[in-house]
Amino acid sequence: MDDPRLARIREFIEPFRVSRSAVVLARDFDPSNTGDFFAEEDSKGLLQQGIEMLEHYQCRLAAQDTFGLLVVLQALDAGGKDSTIRHVMSGVNPQGVVVHGFRAPSSEELDHDFLWRYTQKLPARGEIAIFNRSHYEDVLVVRVHPELLLRQKLPPLARAGAVWERRYQQINDWERSLVENGFPIVKVFLNLSKEEQRRRFLRRIDYPEKNWKFNAHDVEERAQWAAYQDAFSQMLSATSTAYAPWYVIPADHKWFLRVAVAAVIIDALANIDPEYPTVSDEARQALIASKERLEAEAPDGVAPDPVGARLAAGEA
Ligand code: AMP
Ligand code: MG
Repeated sequence: MDDPRLARIREFIEPFRVSRSAVVLARDFDPSNTGDFFAEEDSKGLLQQGIEMLEHYQCRLAAQDTFGLLVVLQALDAGGKDSTIRHVMSGVNPQGVVVHGFRAPSSEELDHDFLWRYTQKLPARGEIAIFNRSHYEDVLVVRVHPELLLRQKLPPLARAGAVWERRYQQINDWERSLVENGFPIVKVFLNLSKEEQRRRFLRRIDYPEKNWKFNAHDVEERAQWAAYQDAFSQMLSATSTAYAPWYVIPADHKWFLRVAVAAVIIDALANIDPEYPTVSDEARQALIASKERLEAEAPDGVAPDPVGARLAAGEA
Protein backbone atom coordinates (compact mmCIF):
# COMPACT_ATOMS: atom_id res chain seq x y z
CA MET A 1 0.00 0.00 0.00
CA ASP A 2 1.39 3.43 -0.98
CA ASP A 3 0.24 5.33 2.08
CA PRO A 4 2.53 8.36 2.52
CA ARG A 5 1.86 8.18 6.26
CA LEU A 6 3.79 4.90 6.43
CA ALA A 7 7.08 6.49 5.40
CA ARG A 8 6.66 9.05 8.16
CA ILE A 9 5.74 6.40 10.71
CA ARG A 10 8.89 4.44 9.81
CA GLU A 11 11.07 7.50 10.14
CA PHE A 12 9.45 8.30 13.49
CA ILE A 13 9.97 4.87 15.08
CA GLU A 14 13.46 4.23 13.71
CA PRO A 15 15.35 5.82 16.67
CA PHE A 16 13.45 3.60 19.12
CA ARG A 17 14.48 0.32 17.52
CA VAL A 18 17.27 -1.48 19.37
CA SER A 19 19.94 -2.25 16.82
CA ARG A 20 23.03 -2.26 18.98
CA SER A 21 24.19 -5.33 20.84
CA ALA A 22 25.39 -3.63 24.04
CA VAL A 23 22.53 -1.54 25.33
CA VAL A 24 22.90 0.52 28.48
CA LEU A 25 19.39 1.75 29.05
CA ALA A 26 20.27 4.88 31.03
CA ARG A 27 22.91 5.91 28.50
CA ASP A 28 21.13 5.04 25.26
CA PHE A 29 17.46 5.86 25.80
CA ASP A 30 15.93 8.95 27.40
CA PRO A 31 12.56 8.19 29.07
CA SER A 32 11.42 11.80 28.76
CA ASN A 33 12.28 12.20 25.07
CA THR A 34 9.39 13.48 22.96
CA GLY A 35 11.39 14.22 19.81
CA ASP A 36 10.34 16.92 17.37
CA PHE A 37 7.90 14.96 15.22
CA PHE A 38 4.78 16.35 16.82
CA ALA A 39 3.64 18.44 19.77
CA GLU A 40 1.36 17.40 22.60
CA GLU A 41 -1.60 19.30 21.13
CA ASP A 42 -1.35 17.20 17.94
CA SER A 43 -1.06 13.88 19.74
CA LYS A 44 -4.81 13.23 20.09
CA GLY A 45 -5.40 13.68 16.36
CA LEU A 46 -2.41 11.51 15.51
CA LEU A 47 -3.52 8.78 17.89
CA GLN A 48 -6.98 8.84 16.33
CA GLN A 49 -5.42 8.50 12.88
CA GLY A 50 -3.25 5.64 14.15
CA ILE A 51 -6.26 3.87 15.64
CA GLU A 52 -8.06 4.09 12.29
CA MET A 53 -5.05 2.66 10.47
CA LEU A 54 -4.85 -0.19 12.97
CA GLU A 55 -8.52 -0.97 12.49
CA HIS A 56 -8.08 -1.06 8.74
CA TYR A 57 -5.06 -3.39 8.89
CA GLN A 58 -6.66 -5.63 11.47
CA CYS A 59 -9.67 -6.22 9.20
CA ARG A 60 -7.37 -7.28 6.38
CA LEU A 61 -5.25 -9.42 8.70
CA ALA A 62 -8.37 -11.30 9.79
CA ALA A 63 -9.71 -11.65 6.24
CA GLN A 64 -6.42 -12.98 4.91
CA ASP A 65 -6.13 -15.45 7.79
CA THR A 66 -2.49 -16.26 7.07
CA PHE A 67 -0.46 -14.23 9.57
CA GLY A 68 -1.00 -13.57 13.27
CA LEU A 69 0.67 -10.74 15.15
CA LEU A 70 2.12 -11.04 18.63
CA VAL A 71 2.59 -7.78 20.53
CA VAL A 72 4.81 -8.06 23.61
CA LEU A 73 4.52 -5.23 26.14
CA GLN A 74 7.06 -4.92 28.91
CA ALA A 75 7.60 -2.09 31.38
CA LEU A 76 8.44 -1.32 34.95
CA ASP A 77 5.47 -0.93 37.29
CA ALA A 78 3.42 2.17 36.40
CA GLY A 79 5.02 2.19 32.97
CA GLY A 80 1.60 2.55 31.35
CA LYS A 81 0.99 -0.89 29.81
CA ASP A 82 -2.69 -1.12 30.71
CA SER A 83 -3.67 2.35 29.58
CA THR A 84 -1.65 1.94 26.39
CA ILE A 85 -3.61 -1.20 25.50
CA ARG A 86 -6.87 0.56 26.33
CA HIS A 87 -6.12 3.59 24.17
CA VAL A 88 -4.20 2.13 21.27
CA MET A 89 -6.49 -0.84 20.66
CA SER A 90 -9.73 1.09 21.26
CA GLY A 91 -10.71 1.08 17.59
CA VAL A 92 -10.11 -2.51 16.61
CA ASN A 93 -12.70 -5.23 16.41
CA PRO A 94 -12.59 -7.04 19.79
CA GLN A 95 -13.06 -10.35 17.95
CA GLY A 96 -9.69 -9.92 16.27
CA VAL A 97 -7.62 -9.03 19.33
CA VAL A 98 -6.86 -10.99 22.48
CA VAL A 99 -5.03 -9.54 25.48
CA HIS A 100 -3.26 -11.81 27.96
CA GLY A 101 -1.78 -10.61 31.23
CA PHE A 102 0.88 -12.77 32.86
CA ARG A 103 1.33 -12.83 36.61
CA ALA A 104 3.46 -15.00 38.86
CA PRO A 105 3.19 -18.54 37.46
CA SER A 106 0.77 -21.04 39.01
CA SER A 107 1.95 -24.39 40.31
CA GLU A 108 0.65 -26.03 37.14
CA GLU A 109 2.68 -23.58 35.05
CA LEU A 110 5.78 -24.20 37.18
CA ASP A 111 5.41 -27.89 36.35
CA HIS A 112 6.27 -27.08 32.71
CA ASP A 113 9.14 -25.40 30.92
CA PHE A 114 9.06 -21.61 31.19
CA LEU A 115 7.75 -21.02 27.66
CA TRP A 116 4.81 -23.39 28.02
CA ARG A 117 2.27 -20.92 29.40
CA TYR A 118 3.11 -18.32 26.75
CA THR A 119 2.73 -20.87 23.96
CA GLN A 120 -0.89 -21.48 25.02
CA LYS A 121 -1.75 -17.84 24.47
CA LEU A 122 -0.14 -17.22 21.08
CA PRO A 123 -2.32 -15.59 18.42
CA ALA A 124 -4.13 -17.68 15.83
CA ARG A 125 -3.72 -16.77 12.18
CA GLY A 126 -5.72 -13.63 11.49
CA GLU A 127 -5.48 -12.52 15.12
CA ILE A 128 -3.52 -9.97 17.11
CA ALA A 129 -2.49 -11.15 20.57
CA ILE A 130 -1.14 -8.70 23.12
CA PHE A 131 1.02 -9.99 25.95
CA ASN A 132 0.77 -7.65 28.93
CA ARG A 133 4.04 -8.91 30.45
CA SER A 134 5.44 -11.92 28.69
CA HIS A 135 8.08 -14.63 28.48
CA TYR A 136 10.55 -11.81 29.13
CA GLU A 137 9.53 -11.81 32.81
CA ASP A 138 11.49 -15.05 32.97
CA VAL A 139 14.72 -13.12 32.31
CA LEU A 140 13.63 -10.01 34.27
CA VAL A 141 11.78 -10.51 37.55
CA VAL A 142 13.18 -14.04 37.77
CA ARG A 143 16.70 -12.73 37.26
CA VAL A 144 16.31 -9.97 39.83
CA HIS A 145 14.86 -12.49 42.32
CA PRO A 146 16.93 -15.69 42.12
CA GLU A 147 14.53 -17.46 44.53
CA LEU A 148 11.95 -17.42 41.72
CA LEU A 149 14.30 -19.45 39.56
CA LEU A 150 14.53 -22.03 42.33
CA ARG A 151 10.73 -22.39 42.24
CA GLN A 152 10.92 -23.33 38.55
CA LYS A 153 12.04 -26.86 39.49
CA LEU A 154 14.77 -26.95 36.87
CA PRO A 155 17.11 -29.94 36.62
CA PRO A 156 20.64 -29.21 37.92
CA LEU A 157 22.21 -28.66 34.50
CA ALA A 158 19.62 -26.05 33.55
CA ARG A 159 20.33 -24.17 36.78
CA ALA A 160 24.11 -24.18 36.30
CA GLY A 161 26.42 -21.81 34.48
CA ALA A 162 25.19 -19.27 31.96
CA VAL A 163 21.50 -19.58 32.78
CA TRP A 164 20.45 -16.21 31.35
CA GLU A 165 22.50 -16.46 28.17
CA ARG A 166 20.88 -19.84 27.48
CA ARG A 167 17.45 -18.43 28.15
CA TYR A 168 18.04 -15.52 25.77
CA GLN A 169 19.03 -18.05 23.13
CA GLN A 170 15.96 -20.19 23.83
CA ILE A 171 13.75 -17.11 23.51
CA ASN A 172 15.43 -16.06 20.26
CA ASP A 173 15.04 -19.56 18.82
CA TRP A 174 11.37 -19.72 19.82
CA GLU A 175 10.66 -16.31 18.35
CA ARG A 176 12.48 -17.15 15.12
CA SER A 177 10.35 -20.22 14.70
CA LEU A 178 7.18 -18.19 15.25
CA VAL A 179 8.23 -15.50 12.77
CA GLU A 180 9.18 -18.06 10.14
CA ASN A 181 5.81 -19.73 10.50
CA GLY A 182 3.77 -16.58 9.94
CA PHE A 183 3.68 -14.94 13.36
CA PRO A 184 5.64 -11.68 13.37
CA ILE A 185 6.42 -10.24 16.80
CA VAL A 186 6.37 -6.63 17.96
CA LYS A 187 8.31 -6.08 21.18
CA VAL A 188 7.79 -2.84 23.05
CA PHE A 189 9.53 -1.75 26.22
CA LEU A 190 7.96 1.28 27.89
CA ASN A 191 10.94 3.09 29.33
CA LEU A 192 9.97 5.03 32.45
CA SER A 193 12.24 7.24 34.58
CA LYS A 194 12.60 6.63 38.27
CA GLU A 195 11.20 10.05 39.13
CA GLU A 196 8.14 9.62 36.89
CA GLN A 197 7.49 6.24 38.52
CA ARG A 198 7.62 7.92 41.94
CA ARG A 199 5.03 10.48 40.78
CA ARG A 200 2.74 7.83 39.32
CA PHE A 201 2.86 5.81 42.53
CA LEU A 202 2.04 8.97 44.51
CA ARG A 203 -0.87 9.67 42.17
CA ARG A 204 -2.20 6.19 42.93
CA ILE A 205 -2.04 7.01 46.63
CA ASP A 206 -3.31 10.61 46.52
CA TYR A 207 -6.34 10.06 44.26
CA PRO A 208 -8.82 7.78 46.05
CA GLU A 209 -10.20 6.44 42.77
CA LYS A 210 -6.70 5.26 41.87
CA ASN A 211 -5.98 3.54 45.18
CA TRP A 212 -6.99 0.13 43.81
CA LYS A 213 -4.03 0.30 41.45
CA PHE A 214 -1.52 0.86 44.22
CA ASN A 215 0.40 -2.10 45.51
CA ALA A 216 2.97 -1.70 48.29
CA HIS A 217 4.88 -4.54 46.64
CA ASP A 218 5.56 -2.22 43.69
CA VAL A 219 7.46 0.10 46.04
CA GLU A 220 9.52 -2.88 47.21
CA GLU A 221 10.38 -3.66 43.59
CA ARG A 222 11.35 -0.04 43.03
CA ALA A 223 14.14 -0.55 45.57
CA GLN A 224 15.66 -2.95 43.00
CA TRP A 225 15.72 -0.23 40.33
CA ALA A 226 19.38 -0.67 39.44
CA ALA A 227 19.08 -4.46 39.19
CA TYR A 228 16.07 -4.08 36.89
CA GLN A 229 17.85 -1.52 34.71
CA ASP A 230 20.68 -3.96 34.35
CA ALA A 231 18.39 -6.89 33.57
CA PHE A 232 16.51 -4.78 30.98
CA SER A 233 19.75 -3.63 29.38
CA GLN A 234 21.05 -7.19 29.04
CA MET A 235 17.74 -8.50 27.78
CA LEU A 236 17.53 -5.77 25.13
CA SER A 237 21.12 -6.42 24.09
CA ALA A 238 20.65 -10.17 23.71
CA THR A 239 17.13 -10.47 22.31
CA SER A 240 16.71 -7.58 19.88
CA THR A 241 17.09 -9.57 16.67
CA ALA A 242 16.68 -8.64 13.02
CA TYR A 243 13.53 -10.79 12.86
CA ALA A 244 12.05 -9.60 16.18
CA PRO A 245 13.60 -6.28 17.25
CA TRP A 246 12.83 -4.44 20.47
CA TYR A 247 11.50 -0.90 20.51
CA VAL A 248 12.31 1.21 23.56
CA ILE A 249 9.56 3.80 23.83
CA PRO A 250 10.05 6.86 26.06
CA ALA A 251 7.27 6.49 28.61
CA ASP A 252 7.38 9.57 30.83
CA HIS A 253 4.77 11.31 28.66
CA LYS A 254 1.70 9.21 28.03
CA TRP A 255 0.51 11.38 25.13
CA PHE A 256 3.77 10.57 23.37
CA LEU A 257 4.04 6.91 24.21
CA ARG A 258 0.55 6.07 22.93
CA VAL A 259 1.23 7.53 19.51
CA ALA A 260 4.61 5.79 19.43
CA VAL A 261 3.23 2.36 20.36
CA ALA A 262 0.48 2.70 17.77
CA ALA A 263 3.15 3.59 15.20
CA VAL A 264 5.25 0.52 15.99
CA ILE A 265 2.24 -1.81 15.67
CA ILE A 266 1.09 -0.15 12.43
CA ASP A 267 4.57 -0.59 10.99
CA ALA A 268 4.50 -4.31 11.78
CA LEU A 269 1.08 -4.71 10.17
CA ALA A 270 2.18 -2.70 7.15
CA ASN A 271 5.15 -5.05 6.77
CA ILE A 272 2.73 -7.97 6.68
CA ASP A 273 0.61 -5.92 4.27
CA PRO A 274 -2.35 -8.29 4.52
CA GLU A 275 -4.72 -8.35 1.54
CA TYR A 276 -8.37 -9.30 1.28
CA PRO A 277 -8.51 -12.69 -0.43
CA THR A 278 -9.24 -12.43 -4.15
CA VAL A 279 -12.23 -14.32 -5.44
CA SER A 280 -11.48 -17.11 -7.92
CA ASP A 281 -13.37 -17.35 -11.25
CA GLU A 282 -15.20 -20.35 -9.90
CA ALA A 283 -16.25 -18.53 -6.75
CA ARG A 284 -17.26 -15.53 -8.86
CA GLN A 285 -19.57 -17.77 -10.93
CA ALA A 286 -21.10 -19.11 -7.72
CA LEU A 287 -21.68 -15.54 -6.50
CA ILE A 288 -23.45 -14.66 -9.75
CA ALA A 289 -25.63 -17.76 -9.51
CA SER A 290 -26.64 -16.85 -5.94
CA LYS A 291 -27.31 -13.29 -7.01
CA GLU A 292 -29.67 -14.47 -9.76
CA ARG A 293 -31.58 -16.63 -7.30
CA LEU A 294 -31.95 -13.74 -4.84
CA GLU A 295 -33.04 -11.35 -7.60
CA ALA A 296 -35.69 -13.83 -8.74
CA GLU A 297 -37.16 -13.72 -5.22
CA ALA A 298 -37.77 -9.93 -5.30
CA PRO A 299 -41.37 -9.08 -4.30
CA ASP A 300 -43.58 -7.33 -6.88
CA GLY A 301 -42.68 -3.69 -7.36
CA VAL A 302 -39.29 -4.00 -5.64
CA ALA A 303 -35.99 -3.63 -7.49
CA PRO A 304 -34.37 -7.06 -8.03
CA ASP A 305 -31.15 -5.81 -6.43
CA PRO A 306 -31.60 -2.54 -4.55
CA VAL A 307 -28.05 -2.74 -3.17
CA GLY A 308 -26.50 -3.07 -6.62
CA ALA A 309 -28.72 -0.25 -7.88
CA ARG A 310 -27.40 2.10 -5.18
CA LEU A 311 -23.80 1.00 -5.84
CA ALA A 312 -24.21 1.67 -9.55
CA ALA A 313 -25.57 5.12 -8.71
CA GLY A 314 -22.43 5.75 -6.63
CA GLU A 315 -24.42 6.05 -3.40
CA ALA A 316 -22.89 3.21 -1.41
P1 AMP B 1 0.56 -7.00 37.64
O1 AMP B 1 1.03 -6.89 36.21
O2 AMP B 1 0.57 -5.70 38.37
O3 AMP B 1 -0.71 -7.75 37.75
O4 AMP B 1 1.66 -7.88 38.41
C1 AMP B 1 2.01 -9.13 37.98
C2 AMP B 1 3.14 -9.62 38.85
O5 AMP B 1 3.50 -10.92 38.39
C3 AMP B 1 4.37 -8.75 38.77
O6 AMP B 1 4.84 -8.49 40.06
C4 AMP B 1 5.34 -9.61 38.01
O7 AMP B 1 6.67 -9.37 38.37
C5 AMP B 1 4.91 -11.01 38.34
N1 AMP B 1 5.30 -11.96 37.32
C6 AMP B 1 4.95 -11.95 36.01
N2 AMP B 1 5.54 -12.96 35.35
C7 AMP B 1 6.29 -13.63 36.24
C8 AMP B 1 7.16 -14.77 36.17
N3 AMP B 1 7.36 -15.42 35.02
N4 AMP B 1 7.74 -15.18 37.29
C9 AMP B 1 7.53 -14.53 38.46
N5 AMP B 1 6.74 -13.46 38.59
C10 AMP B 1 6.13 -13.01 37.52
MG1 MG C 1 1.58 -4.25 39.17
